[in-house]
Amino acid sequence: MERHDVLVIGGGLLGCALAHHLTRAGATVALVEKDQLNRHASGQNAGSLHFQLEYRMIQHGPEVAARAAEALPLHLDAMRAWASLEDEIGEPCGVRRRGGLMLAETPEQLELLARKTALERAHGLDVRVLDTDETHALAPYLSDHVLGAAWCPGEGKANPRLVTHAYARAAARNGAHIAAGTGLRALRHDGREWIATVTRDGRERPMRARAVVIAAGIWTAQVAAMADVRLPVIPVALSMTVTAATAPLVPHLVQHVGRRLSLKQTEEGNVLVGGGWPAKFVHHGGDLDLDERPELRLDSVFGSADAARVVPAVQQLPVLRIWSGATSLTPDQLPLLGAVPRRPDLYVATGGSAFTLGPTYSRLLAQQVLTGRTELPIGDYSPARFGFLNFV
Ligand SMILES: Cc1cc2nc3c(=O)[nH]c(=O)nc-3n(C[C@H](O)[C@H](O)[C@H](O)COP(=O)(O)OP(=O)(O)OC[C@H]3O[C@@H](n4cnc5c(N)ncnc54)[C@H](O)[C@@H]3O)c2cc1C
Repeated sequence: MERHDVLVIGGGLLGCALAHHLTRAGATVALVEKDQLNRHASGQNAGSLHFQLEYRMIQHGPEVAARAAEALPLHLDAMRAWASLEDEIGEPCGVRRRGGLMLAETPEQLELLARKTALERAHGLDVRVLDTDETHALAPYLSDHVLGAAWCPGEGKANPRLVTHAYARAAARNGAHIAAGTGLRALRHDGREWIATVTRDGRERPMRARAVVIAAGIWTAQVAAMADVRLPVIPVALSMTVTAATAPLVPHLVQHVGRRLSLKQTEEGNVLVGGGWPAKFVHHGGDLDLDERPELRLDSVFGSADAARVVPAVQQLPVLRIWSGATSLTPDQLPLLGAVPRRPDLYVATGGSAFTLGPTYSRLLAQQVLTGRTELPIGDYSPARFGFLNFV
């Protein structure tokens, strides 16, 4: 029977980056992906590298924001990781770090920015509030509605179509066995090792591994249930809009402190607008169908068009495409990262902004899988925090 040190479930950014870090450290690794690599969230996202606390983390009040701020050491680590990623994996990934602005349009939002940046600076993030003149001098493409912004020079973007595949190729060069079109169907521990049943083209085959890492995005709870574990993963359907290409207009990553917005221009000139606009999962008899692409919501289409309020030039650009995708969150907005309690050598990685933070999550989790220790503490993100929910 095929045997590896580690079996990784899921061929998105997290799974492929894990395979890279694990093989780089000398482990033998197999990765199984039920569809194509990068087919889901990792290839459908906005590609924002946002290290400031996001709107979704500050909209629920100071307590949630303070808790989210405890993850800032991971944000700082990820900022460094993206700076050297293309050298590390030997391929261009479209990483451009020309800084990010989080906008305020009201005096209250300016105050919120001031509180937010104070929290972030206390954790070492290079970020500061610009007044109205400074903001417009730096970003002349913004409308007069914008009163100020938090400026974080290390923010930017990367190309979601490139990153996961580049990680996968780096892992394969180090000997990882990467099998697309191969789904995990069953998982059990025989007292010594994990035995997985995977299927490809309708044919089943068993695999053995000392450790298993679940990096299955919105399907994480389904996969965990195969090992009789219940994980509180919340699937969230989102939509993104892309305009036709235009001349260089917006060099920065643009976000908003008071409402959903992420806006950036790709290297090809298209403007991408997102920021958490909801789409709608397809239901069958009351059950979510995670395999079907979520449907678009008209209110989100109109909502994201409101980006023109702060970047007026966007209004002149024809919309090329609006698409939907789905990502995973947890009840406390923090990632699920670490060993699953009471299951030997079973690990999970999902939740949160796993594009921005994926290089860090995957490196730290690979360290935990191989040595039991991590360079930065990840105990706060352990699935153990959800206590009794872990077991069915
Ligand atoms: C529209 C949108 C915009 C976003 N924008 C941003 C952004 O700008 N910045 C940011 O940081 N984050 C963003 N995100 C979130 C980010 O994309 C995700 O956090 C990240 O891509 C998750 O990566 P992943 O590898 O965990 O999951 P995925 O990319 O979903 O990969 C999981 C993989 O597991 C596979 N799988 C599942 N079950 C099985 C099984 N039984 N057997 C084998 N394989 C299996 C799936 O097929 C899938 O390919 C966005 C998400 C969306 C949807």
